[in-house]
This record gives sequence, C-alpha cells and structure tokens, in this order.
Amino acid sequence: MKISIIGAGNVGSTTALRIAQEGLGEVVLIDVIKGLAQGKVFDLEDARAVLKYNYQIEGSDDISKIKDSNVIVITAGLARKPGMTREELLQKNSAILKGICGNIKKLSPKAIIIVVTNPLDLMTNFVLKITGFSLKKVFGMGVSLDASRFANLIAKELNIPVTDVEAVVIGSHGEAMLPLARFSKIKGVALDEFVDDKKLELLVSKTIGRGAEIVNLLGSGSAYFAPSAAIAAMVKVIIKDEKRVIGVCAYLNGEYGIKDICIGVPCRLGKDGIEKIIELDLNKKELELLKGSALVIRKLSKQLPV
Ligand code: NAD
Repeated sequence: MKISIIGAGNVGSTTALRIAQEGLGEVVLIDVIKGLAQGKVFDLEDARAVLKYNYQIEGSDDISKIKDSNVIVITAGLARKPGMTREELLQKNSAILKGICGNIKKLSPKAIIIVVTNPLDLMTNFVLKITGFSLKKVFGMGVSLDASRFANLIAKELNIPVTDVEAVVIGSHGEAMLPLARFSKIKGVALDEFVDDKKLELLVSKTIGRGAEIVNLLGSGSAYFAPSAAIAAMVKVIIKDEKRVIGVCAYLNGEYGIKDICIGVPCRLGKDGIEKIIELDLNKKELELLKGSALVIRKLSKQLPV
C-alpha cells in the first residue's frame, strides 16, 4: 500500500511519522519548499535503527512521486493567521488545492483522498468537485479530532481514564461544531447522566475553543499532535479495512435532511472509503443545531471558486 502526504509542515510531517511507525505502508511526503520534505524524511529515517522499525519513507518536492497512491492525505496550505479572514484563507487554500488535485487526478486516479487543509468542510467539498472522484473516496478529517478533544476534556473533568470515554462530535469543523452529550458515553452511559447542564455547557464550549486555545498558547502555528493522530487512525481504518465508525467530513445527499455540502457525521470506513453514512437518531434540538451548522458552511461555500 502506498500512502502519500502532501504538505510537509507540522501536521503532514507528524502524520508521516505516525503512519510510518505503524507500518501501514510505503509513505511519500511532498512539499513545494525545496528540500523540506526530503530533510524531514531523512530525519525520520535516521530514527529507524533506534526504533528498530523498517519503515519505507520518501520525501520530495516532486509531486509526480505520488503516482499510484492508494491513500492521499492533503495537509498543504496555510493556517489562519491573526488578522486573516476565513474568506482570504478560503481563496488562498483553494488555489493551492486546485493545483494539487490536478496532479492527483493525473497520477493517482484511484486514490482515496483525506482532506485536512482548512477551512475543512469547504476544502473537502472543493476537492470532491474538482477531482470528480466518487463521494465515497473524498472526505475530510475534522470532527474525529474534535471528538478526541471532547473526550480528553470529559476525562479530565470527571477524573476518569480517557479510555472509558467515547465522545461524539458532528457538524462543521469550526465554531458551529456540535459536541453531542446524549451520544457521548462513559462505559455505555450517556454523558448527561454524569454532569449537570452548566458543566456540560462548559465542556462543550471548551471543546469548541480548544483549537484556538492551542493557537494562542503556541504563538505561531496550530495544533498537530492530536490532528496527526486522528489522520493516522483514519488511514489505518482504510488500509486495514477495519470497518470502524469514525466521524468524518462527508458529502451529504439528503442524510439528516441536508444536501450538497460536506459536513462532519459518523461514517463506517473501510478499504473503499466511506461504506455507510450513519444517521444518528437526533432529537429536534440537535437536528436544528446540525442544520444551523450546515447553514454556516453553505453560506461560506458560495465563495468557493467552483
Ligand atoms: P504548516 O504551515 O506547518 O504546513 C503547511 C505546508 O504546506 C507548508 O510546509 C507548505 O510549504 C506546504 N504547501 C503549501 N502549498 C503546497 C503545495 N502546493 N504542495 C505541497 N505543499 C504545499 O501548517 P500545518 O500546521 O501543517 O497545517 C496544514 C493545514 O492543515 C492548515 O490549513 C491547517 O489549518 C490545517 N489543519 C487542519 C486540521 C483539521 O482538523 N482538519 C487540524 C490541524 C491543521
């Protein structure tokens, strides 16, 4: 199996490390900056003898190296900088992704594409439209990271092992995300049995603000340890055909009463990509919130250059 990662910045290179160490396949890391991907890969390779792993990894500025990939992860692009509007980010990153997708179509027409570049829901839709790949084969990583953050914050609040928590987040990968208390479980019992409404509200708002909290603390750049873990988990499900249910940014065609946008929902993933979009039995309030989240994406998607 061949897994290519386009964009050798913080998220891309950490993802390469995780995938290589898991031994999921041959890894190719690409960046437009000459020497960057190759330098990072040499550094990763140099750890093989200490770690006693024989992983195969290559770094290059030549995108033709992605030829015949089974899975392609797109982490190329800018993160939002102070003062930059979402619209500016959208224009800049869609221009970057347009070029990359032209190459993917030519070089790896059968690949499954995992989009990571922000604004995630819009970039996933954009990649889907300009590649023309099947709906099952193009999706984004966003809400599984948000769910991991939610689970971490729940575990810390209740002082319990994080492995006892199964958290669910749906909606956009942004401020309108929807951490779902009724569907988030601790050993099978719904979270709202453990915390009162006030605490729950706080956990939800902390989850929504977690990415920004990290950006502010870092001073420059954004999170990459948890994002790369969430991407590697997704790649593993595909490569090993695990058929696990994970939250992904998927194209909806009527599910949840939503059409023609990409948004985070639980999906069963396997070797061919999305095998099934799971429709949770949302109550009226939850469904309204999800539709509100979809509306935010729909409004912004009018600015997509497609
Ligand atoms: P970064 O700046 O560290 O890395 C981005 C890399 O992309 C740079 O090295 C840059 O040279 C490269 N690049 C730009 N154009 C390219 C092209 N045409 N071909 C190949 N490489 C190209 O940023 P990062 O922290 O790694 O984040 C990358 C993206 O992922 C950002 O858009 C960020 O907002 C997003 N992100 C998304 C999530 C998520 O949950 N979906 C989480 C974290 C970051």
